[in-house]
Amino acid sequence: MAEFSLDLNEEQRDLRDWVHGFASEVVRPAAAEWDAREETPWPVIQEAAKVGLYGFEFLATCWADPTGLSLPIASEELFWGDAGIGLSIFGTSLAVAAIYGSGTPEQLIEWVPQCFGTVDEPAVAAFCTTEPEAGSDVAAMRTRAVYDAATDEWVLTGQKAYATNGGIANVHVVTAAVDPTLGSRGQAAFVVPPDTPGLASTRKLAKLGLRASHTADIFLDDVRVPGRCLLGGPEKLQERLDRARSGQRTASQAAMRTFELSRPTVGAQALGVARAAYEYALAYAKERVQFGRPIIENQAIAFALSDMKMEIDAARLLVWRAAWMGRNNRPFLAGEGSMAKLKAGEVAVAVTEKAVQILGGAGFLREHPVERWYRDSKIYTIFEGTSEIQRLVISRAIAR
Ligand SMILES: Cc1cc2nc3c(=O)[nH]c(=O)nc-3n(C[C@H](O)[C@H](O)[C@H](O)COP(=O)(O)OP(=O)(O)OC[C@H]3O[C@@H](n4cnc5c(N)ncnc54)[C@H](O)[C@@H]3O)c2cc1C
Repeated sequence: MAEFSLDLNEEQRDLRDWVHGFASEVVRPAAAEWDAREETPWPVIQEAAKVGLYGFEFLATCWADPTGLSLPIASEELFWGDAGIGLSIFGTSLAVAAIYGSGTPEQLIEWVPQCFGTVDEPAVAAFCTTEPEAGSDVAAMRTRAVYDAATDEWVLTGQKAYATNGGIANVHVVTAAVDPTLGSRGQAAFVVPPDTPGLASTRKLAKLGLRASHTADIFLDDVRVPGRCLLGGPEKLQERLDRARSGQRTASQAAMRTFELSRPTVGAQALGVARAAYEYALAYAKERVQFGRPIIENQAIAFALSDMKMEIDAARLLVWRAAWMGRNNRPFLAGEGSMAKLKAGEVAVAVTEKAVQILGGAGFLREHPVERWYRDSKIYTIFEGTSEIQRLVISRAIAR
């Protein structure tokens, strides 16, 4: 087990500085343009691939850190640059994590490279689980997967909502009910290979924030995928279904733990947005003169900035604690993963709102990035489990 230390080691410091450099030199200068265009920033993804920030090797190196802190550190720095572009770069990791977490070694070898594409022609991947009638209530999923033994194919039928990279992805990972009578315990994940007939996406969704990240609804109309696309393989699925039918603990409950594990990283993204807004507001408050003195000399402004800094630091401690616990197999007895994401998401919303206020009229204009950070921050109380769902997880854990 790795020691928990707030003293980052040399590799972690190098990683932080390297990602920060990329965020400040490449991501941030491009942020306003891609937000306005509301398009996937392919040239920036390509740059990220060239420097080694986009690809399985990068993710695997982060995952290998025994302290668990590398991915939160990298995420905070990248999303400090811009959340929309950040999600275009890191969104693929959702699908990759599903393949890595549930797939066989053969599936990893076959599909992960196709998620990322090549340095010259990067691709993205999508993880599609939310449905129009099944958001927070994952067990209500209606998408069905039926096995056709005659052709050794799975047939997927249904609809997915709000998929990041949906429709533009090379590889889609889709969850579906194999046995709907078992609720979330009867679900499985499937890889939909590139150009599979029957998978369609109608439109790119227009959003409040994260506009440089593509979000779309997905339709699955008798999508036939080879048997080998069932993540984990048929034996594992059968074993899981048998356990669920006999009332034993199943991998679906284990999937809840996977969510808990991914939440600190999402919390770290929110921290990046919050820190960007705090730093900008602090610099502005030192420069902006009203009534003959910089506005930071007013206690109302200085106290607001103090709270922003304190809340960001407090949230980071929760994020790092959960990341360390997850990596070191410590049980989340009080929903610590949810705590991290919940706190960081709510801090991002509060801090960016305060930043807009500190800039006054300038904060409301597109000439300054704080309005974009304010818009972007809101997603962090919604996706990867809403704030209410995080509270549900924590409350159930402490009530047990
Ligand atoms: C930009 C963006 C990107 C996304 N990317 C992806 C993706 O890549 N893949 C994917 O699968 N999904 C993705 N999502 C979907 C996201 O995860 C869901 O929107 C989220 O889980 C909430 O589901 P919902 O929108 O259906 O809200 P609902 O579940 O309908 O919730 C509505 C409100 O009711 C509250 N609520 C619901 N149930 C309870 C309860 N039991 N107790 C208290 N309150 C409750 C919620 O907290 C919320 O406030 C994305 C969404 C967005 C906006």
